[in-house]
Amino acid sequence: NNITVRARLRSDPRQEMFYEDNGRVTTYGEFMKRAGQYAYVLAYKYKIEKGDRVMARVSKTVDTVALYIACLQIGAVYIPVNTAYTEKEAAHYIKDATPTLLVSCATDIDFKFKDRLIVVDENQLSDDTNSAKEMTDIENVRFTDPASICYTSGTTGLPKGAVLTHGGLSTNAEQIVKAWGFTNKDRNLHCLPFYHVHGMYMSLHSSLFSHSALIWRKKFEVEDAIEHMKNATVMMGVPTYFSRLLSSPHFEKPVFSNMRVFISGSAPLSVATIDAFEKKTGHVILERYGMTEAQVMSTNPLHGERIPGTVGPALADIKIRIGEGDGIEIQSQSLFAGYWNNPEKTKSEFTADGWFKTGDCGTIDEKGYLRIAGRSKDLIISGGLNVYPKEIEDAIDPLPNVKESAVIASPHPDFGEAVVAIVVLKERKKKFNEKDFEKNIREILKENLAHYKIPKRVIVVEELPRNWMTKVMKNVLRDQYKNLFD
Ligand code: ATP
Ligand code: MG
Repeated sequence: NNITVRARLRSDPRQEMFYEDNGRVTTYGEFMKRAGQYAYVLAYKYKIEKGDRVMARVSKTVDTVALYIACLQIGAVYIPVNTAYTEKEAAHYIKDATPTLLVSCATDIDFKFKDRLIVVDENQLSDDTNSAKEMTDIENVRFTDPASICYTSGTTGLPKGAVLTHGGLSTNAEQIVKAWGFTNKDRNLHCLPFYHVHGMYMSLHSSLFSHSALIWRKKFEVEDAIEHMKNATVMMGVPTYFSRLLSSPHFEKPVFSNMRVFISGSAPLSVATIDAFEKKTGHVILERYGMTEAQVMSTNPLHGERIPGTVGPALADIKIRIGEGDGIEIQSQSLFAGYWNNPEKTKSEFTADGWFKTGDCGTIDEKGYLRIAGRSKDLIISGGLNVYPKEIEDAIDPLPNVKESAVIASPHPDFGEAVVAIVVLKERKKKFNEKDFEKNIREILKENLAHYKIPKRVIVVEELPRNWMTKVMKNVLRDQYKNLFD
């Protein structure tokens, strides 16, 4: 009854696990051996012990998954970080997490911490492993022992290190396997980054815990995804993946004929995208809600009614309630153990009666489906009245020639904050007049929205600022448009 992810992977060794480029297939048997060899090298060559932190700034390969599993096997704490980080950025995470070992995809960077830290090139480590013995012992860990420090996306500020537990990872994985009906027949088209909770844990674990296969792509590129979708049965993605698929002329019938479900998360999925996707494929994208600190919390059902604009009911093991200021609060076994190195921040994110404040606002309908209204930090208070950006964005996005929108607050002398809509067009025609467009949008919105929700300004931009997880960075927009009403 060992609860580590490593202990859950015992499967028929002949079962296929990874499909990579040039047709290479890795079975569960081969992978387990490789992970055991990594565990041996970590334990004996690098002297990594239970509780030591191993930071991985690594490429997305089968070997780096083996590195991850090996860390859990020996009880080390795995810390994935973005490979695109510059030396300065990487230094921030090294200082924060103080790992014993850094495995890096490029050692061209001159890390200033080498005296305290062992740095090894991922290829070097891979070579070390080729000749290593296989370690089969699995460190016995408790449910609440740390397995990983996973950094948040940094959408609202500097990324925070969330300490995830062995029990939390396994419990959540078991629940999503059940909720999304994963079996060992599935083939998961995995295009997500390998250093964020979505790709690293939610999507990878769905396959590992159901002993099924992953089509392991380095990153999401629309034509590459289309090519490999022919063999896939499921795909998880962020909302932009789905709109980009729709915009390709090659996204046509035979491509998705083996797919049983498309799952979206990490950012709000627009109802317009769900509708267009259903029209094209017959699939209603299954939207779910999660965060680094708590993993998957709620999901639209696989079999029951999927309601666009909602993220479905809570998972079996998770309790969700709406607290002060419409804040979404949860209790869950999969919840993190706290923010690394930041007990004050951890404490401030819990209510007096022990519920975790997600930082998102929402409502729960009579069917128990959760509807996310936006982040608490993005809430607009205009003339003393609350305006939830999502409601306005949902009203703007289906309008003619609108590709997408982001609604933000801008300081206003009379109202405190004014509602401002930043809009990206589908196409900018030669005769386009921004003043007319603005007037037109405001007129249409007045038909369905109360006057205080109508944007005081509608501003057209070429694109919205997004972070590496493709999330819209509203703090950047707020800063950019803070003087509109001076
Ligand atoms: P940071 O906490 O560093 O500011 P972040 O909150 O974006 O960044 P993540 O943990 O990657 O970091 O993302 C979790 C957040 O993503 C949730 O709190 C929520 O705001 C948003 N989110 C996830 N799924 C959905 C969804 N289906 N609809 C709307 N928002 C979602
Ligand atoms: Mg967050």
